[in-house]
Amino acid sequence: MIVMGIESSCDETGVGIVAWEPGTDGAPGRAVMLADEVASSVDEHARFGGVVPEIASRAHLEAIVPTMRRAREAAGIDRPDAIAVTIGPGLAGALLVGVAAAKAYALAWDVPLYAMNHLGGHVAVDTLEHGPMPECVALLVSGGHTHLLHVTDLAAPIVELGTTVDDAAGEAFDKVARLLDLGYPGGPALDRLATEGDPHAIAFPRGMTGPRDARYDFSFSGVKTAVARHVEKCRRDGVEVPMADVAASFQEAVADVLTLKAIRACTDLGVDTLVLGGGATANSRIRSLAGERCAAAGITLRVPTPRRCTDNGVMIATLGAHVIAGGAAPSPLTVATDPGLSVQLSQL
Ligand code: ATP
Ligand code: MG
Ligand code: FE
Repeated sequence: MIVMGIESSCDETGVGIVAWEPGTDGAPGRAVMLADEVASSVDEHARFGGVVPEIASRAHLEAIVPTMRRAREAAGIDRPDAIAVTIGPGLAGALLVGVAAAKAYALAWDVPLYAMNHLGGHVAVDTLEHGPMPECVALLVSGGHTHLLHVTDLAAPIVELGTTVDDAAGEAFDKVARLLDLGYPGGPALDRLATEGDPHAIAFPRGMTGPRDARYDFSFSGVKTAVARHVEKCRRDGVEVPMADVAASFQEAVADVLTLKAIRACTDLGVDTLVLGGGATANSRIRSLAGERCAAAGITLRVPTPRRCTDNGVMIATLGAHVIAGGAAPSPLTVATDPGLSVQLSQL
């Protein structure tokens, strides 16, 4: 069975293709990647300092057909046996483009359509590199999302343990980077600058880590505001802003809270695998601290290659293959996009 995955929830137009290899003798099956084509409109958003939904939608419209063609050429196939498409969560207009394309091709090729949850794709993609997924906790951190999930089986509904009550972690990186005039998206630049700074120079707040706070939820607006106050105070006092120390201390605060709560979830649930996903897991400190803390707690850490931590189509194809192999029924061609799709409705 060959599955095409289509992703257009934010600023990446992704089309991926996988072949499903069923397991033998009761072993779990696995998806094998045949194509992974991505067109990004990230550069078009740079001068606005954030993703502009209308620009993203227009870019998807221009990119979707050529990206589908490139993926089919790379995989050496004419048409897949099934199409999986992200219906949410994400930007309404952006999602519409991928879903409309998926419906049109499903109809034209006479293949079944499967509606997918974007967040499940971020978890499933790791199986391409690291094999079948055991029960795990997943920490997804990107420009639009910060979620702590409990995954028992990729073909079954995923349980959300916690999420951010305000900014996403990647969004906080981008906003702090903007305060420091590092451009957009600022996460990678801030990460580089932080290597020259002292992570313990400034004690920025660790949001929602108090004894009465929700165990698995996150808040990043407090640390972002603390950075802004610190920078303002330096400028008011005529002191040079210690850019690298601010970057390193901010990054340490975010990485500390993310990994603390992820390990806590693993320990509470008795789960010994942690999976990272989302573009902000490219962050060197999030990766290294997760590595240190998992090693200390006896937890296996799985992190997809950075290229597949960001949005792509092969993650949706991979999730689709697991869901189809799990016996799910196809979605009707009338299936709607759902920008606010909850993670519990992971596979529909
Ligand atoms: P979605 O939220 O739908 O998954 P997105 O486009 O908002 O999609 P991604 O493309 O997965 O998110 O990731 C982009 C985000 O990751 C940006 O906020 C960017 O600043 C952040 N990021 C990328 N590299 C790093 C890094 N090294 N350190 C910190 N943040 C980073
Ligand atoms: Mg993106
Ligand atoms: Fe994403």
